[in-house]
Amino acid sequence: MVEKSRTLVLKRGFVLAALLVAGAVLAAIGAAQQTPSAASIQVDKVGDNLYVLRGGGGNTAAFITAKGVTLVDAKLPGWGKPILEKLKEITEKPVTMIINTHTHFDHVGGNVEFPATVDVVTHENTANLMREMRPVTGGPEQPNVFKEKNGLGLPNRTFKDRMTLGNGDERIELYYFGRAHTGGDAWVVFPALRAMHSGDAFAIKNLPLIDANNGGSGVEYPKTIAKAAAALKNIDTIITGHNPTTLTIADLKTYADFTREFVQTVQAAKKAGRTIDDVVNSWKVPERFQKDGYPTPEQIQEILRYPVAAQTARLRSNVEVIWNETK
Ligand SMILES: [Zn+2]
Repeated sequence: MVEKSRTLVLKRGFVLAALLVAGAVLAAIGAAQQTPSAASIQVDKVGDNLYVLRGGGGNTAAFITAKGVTLVDAKLPGWGKPILEKLKEITEKPVTMIINTHTHFDHVGGNVEFPATVDVVTHENTANLMREMRPVTGGPEQPNVFKEKNGLGLPNRTFKDRMTLGNGDERIELYYFGRAHTGGDAWVVFPALRAMHSGDAFAIKNLPLIDANNGGSGVEYPKTIAKAAAALKNIDTIITGHNPTTLTIADLKTYADFTREFVQTVQAAKKAGRTIDDVVNSWKVPERFQKDGYPTPEQIQEILRYPVAAQTARLRSNVEVIWNETK
């Protein structure tokens, strides 16, 4: 029995660690070293006319409508053309719209490889951030592919709280629930398919990347996730920013708890007069979340050779952000 449960934990750990490495910007660097090609993109069918394209950065959703294809996110720079090539295996329709979930280059980099006629839709804050492509908190500089292309691929339609695109079975609902991963995280819902794309606000089952430099907030993070989980009804399937499988609303609720506990731990430490080092050295993935598939840094290192030190750097960056936001 003990052996069996250990195998289970490791299996789960593997899946979740795979996402962590694929996860967020750190893994985007890994993916950037991969040569962009359609062959490196894996297609998973989510519903009748909804697919996920994996590889080359964040997960891309492809929603096939009568008029054309709406993409959610366009991967790293260099991966726009491979997306287009891969789409030919699914449909002959052209890409007519890209919705970007947020400003990170592993989600928007491919935008510039699509024709200027393609509509680009984002939250209004993301539209502003994409013009700047500021460095990521605790993470890399971001290439400004838009500047290099004289603004090609920048958003031409924005929303503030909510926006409806299309109608009938082709309706898409965009929501903004507040700051989390960045200051412009869009939640993209496909009501007819009971599915959504959560971007990196919910990227993987692990610590978030809180990109304060691009408007993200540690203190607001769990509130935003809880708001989304409560408001978004009739959804069975979540395409997350980087997970190799789809997740559920139950997973999103657990993520709200996970991020809330993390924020509370950091805030309690500050109020008790402890130090940032202290928190970084003592924080562990709480056991109940480990049971729910949140891997430990050691499991991630063991299986994927993704160094614990790099994971600790992420942890430290997050603790600093929350520390600075806590009076
Ligand atoms: Zn991101």
